[in-house]
Amino acid sequence: MTILVTGGAGYIGSHTVLELLTSGYDVVVLDNLCNASAESLKRVELLTGKTVTFYKADIRDRAAVDGIFERHRIEAVIHFAGLKAVGESTAKPLDYYSVNVSGSVVLAQAMAAAGVTKLIFSSSATVYGEDAPVPYREDMPRGKTSNPYGTSKAMVEQILTDISFADERWSAVLLRYFNPFGAHLSGQIGEDPQGVPNNLMPFIAQVAVGRRESLSIFGDDYDTKDGTCERDYLHVVDLAKGHVLALKATEQSGTHIYNLGTGKATSVKQVVQAFERVTGVTIPYSIAPRRAGDLPAFWAEASKAFSELGWRAEMGIDDMMRDTWRWQQNNPNGYRG
Ligand code: NAD
Ligand code: UDP
Repeated sequence: MTILVTGGAGYIGSHTVLELLTSGYDVVVLDNLCNASAESLKRVELLTGKTVTFYKADIRDRAAVDGIFERHRIEAVIHFAGLKAVGESTAKPLDYYSVNVSGSVVLAQAMAAAGVTKLIFSSSATVYGEDAPVPYREDMPRGKTSNPYGTSKAMVEQILTDISFADERWSAVLLRYFNPFGAHLSGQIGEDPQGVPNNLMPFIAQVAVGRRESLSIFGDDYDTKDGTCERDYLHVVDLAKGHVLALKATEQSGTHIYNLGTGKATSVKQVVQAFERVTGVTIPYSIAPRRAGDLPAFWAEASKAFSELGWRAEMGIDDMMRDTWRWQQNNPNGYRG
């Protein structure tokens, strides 16, 4: 069975391609490499002993997407391709709506034309919005998003819901990720952000290898256990496995929503302490002002994915720290060597 993975060269995508291959699927990847390196897929091939068919193309390029459906018998699509930097989305909203929203529409049109009607979409906990009570549950309505990135995810969720309502052949699985951390246990693939990392884990890892001097913790005056923000961090390999299990949900038509998180909240200071404990490396940090748009604390109600898909996170924060560190030490400059 062949799965098309858009954005498959990226962080979550490459880990998912690996899990798909080891589960016996054939994989075709489309990625324009704007935030990834084809080296990730070469390493996935080495680790699995299997091959990946790769197309360097933009998700908005209808002819390129049609060409993939013509050349391959695609059973289902896992759609990761998109832009994901929250701050940048506020500065460049059109880029985010073009890639994330128009790109998803082009993909769905090409799927419909090819008669492929099973889609798993990378959504985000951000769609619950600013005012949702915690923990977030799938049956809560989508809330008010605070930036174009979050809005683009909510818009695509709605578009896919409408498509599967209109045509009963369609199945759309909306996976709402919490905060993925870590890297594959081999230390061969991991997160490789371009420029200064926006996210906590790659920033800590780059401080640890000496690429950056010190971590800024954005605010320590929140109403949380130690004053720093709390998030639901999950291991990227657990997250990747969730996609393989979610393929099962595409057997049933309609829209299916799952949180992929651990159900546990960890503070920024706890992450730093865990990294230091696991690696023995001290992370110099200072307290900086709050970052605009950050919510104090959110985490998943994670039981639906377990009861319906049989998925739950197997690894904890210490595993995430160990595997991030292994990846970062092996690849201090990411895929650039
Ligand atoms: P990533 O940037 O590593 O992966 C996205 C991939 O899409 C990259 O390989 C990039 O080159 C590709 N891409 C971007 N624009 C494209 C285009 N126009 N055409 C073709 N390919 C394009 O990010 P990731 O962390 O692996 O995220 C994967 C998906 O999960 C994204 O949709 C993201 O919004 C979503 N998500 C990520 C997180 C997170 O914390 N990492 C949380 C929630 C949701
Ligand atoms: N954070 C931080 N310093 C950094 C990056 C992030 O203190 O350099 C904090 C941020 O304020 C948030 C948490 O770490 O509370 C997770 O941030 P990240 O950007 O990784 O994920 P988000 O939850 O914003 O998607």
